[in-house]
Amino acid sequence: MASFTFVCSECGVRYTEHEVRYVCPVCSQHQSPGGVTRGVLTVELTDAPRRWPAARVHDPGALVAFLPVADPVSLPALRVGGTPLLPVPELRRRFGMPHLWVKDDTRNPSGSTKDRASLLVVAKAIEYGCGTVATASTGNAASALAAVAAAAGVRAVVFVPASAPPAKLVQMASYGATLVPVAGSYDDAFELSLAACERFGWYNRNTAYNPFTIEGKKTAALEIAADLAPDAPHVVIVPAGDGVIVSGIAKGFADLVRGGLLHRPPRLIVVQPEGSAAIARALRTGAPSVTPLAAAESVADSLVVRAPRNAIMALAQVRASGGAGVTVTDEALLDAIATLASTTGVFAEPAAAASLAGLQAALGEGLVARDERVVLLVTGTGLKDIAAASERVRIPGAVPPDLVAVQHLLGETGN
Ligand SMILES: [Zn+2]
Repeated sequence: MASFTFVCSECGVRYTEHEVRYVCPVCSQHQSPGGVTRGVLTVELTDAPRRWPAARVHDPGALVAFLPVADPVSLPALRVGGTPLLPVPELRRRFGMPHLWVKDDTRNPSGSTKDRASLLVVAKAIEYGCGTVATASTGNAASALAAVAAAAGVRAVVFVPASAPPAKLVQMASYGATLVPVAGSYDDAFELSLAACERFGWYNRNTAYNPFTIEGKKTAALEIAADLAPDAPHVVIVPAGDGVIVSGIAKGFADLVRGGLLHRPPRLIVVQPEGSAAIARALRTGAPSVTPLAAAESVADSLVVRAPRNAIMALAQVRASGGAGVTVTDEALLDAIATLASTTGVFAEPAAAASLAGLQAALGEGLVARDERVVLLVTGTGLKDIAAASERVRIPGAVPPDLVAVQHLLGETGN
């Protein structure tokens, strides 16, 4: 519905909407190979909505007025977004936080928040007349693109580290994507996909390269704000790899402030694993940009990046929000999977449980007060990485089908 312009997040130059664009041609001249992306573009709607849609925000298509599509028909017919904001009474009790919520984005079609970006990118591919969309991914973005492309009859080509969890590889292959497992890291897959798109003329969905990834992910923030209105969240806690999800969340709240639908945006707290924490470290040290890591490693495969592509924008937005960065250990991530699942019924992959691990860290550092309205964004389902979750559970041995054996088992497990 809405017309829009691209605005460079570094130099502020504006570009019209009428052609395929990825990054600012001026700022991208400073791009170093394998480094953070220079000249990431944001989308500015010509008429940001000044009222909430008449339809419930959870209805498909309700938020289309906030999206830069020429025609709502372009949006693939898949139920993306509209996920619940859960009040989590048991977790509230455990943390002594009466105003804590979980935004359960595991409920998206492919099981992750990445579906929000893929929905918009595939819609734009259709409007641009591109029949093939490619992406690099640690796994979830590839599955998301594969799912949405399947629903739209568009071809998806996905570049992922061959070491991605098997469930993610099986999922994207089942959706019919052309799967390119890369014998290397996510950063290697990113560079290879850029080269392949240039060579073969494919539309590129790479996160922090295609501006519609940030724009698509903003719908999570719109839904959070709509669900809490007339109140507003004080803090939203967001896991970060490349830093695009947090930018999407920031963009959503910024659009609402611009349209007069929200008085003040929340503080954004980004969480990264200690082994892959370039953005969080820069936030903690006050560094103006990030230094790409020599190596990155974590049980949270979705967050493992050496050079967070969207670091420049993410740093600026988190700082502007009055937020902060925290780091968490892999042990804390695995504990958080079990705590989140057993107190809320939401089963998260390690990267998604990072929100809860990050809340604990933020409370410990005094970055969050227990009486504030706090939202944890839970980004992907635990079914994508059973191996990680299995670290914190014990599956009892099989019992014969009789009650004595059951009584014995209950005695053993203390239940
Ligand atoms: Zn620029």
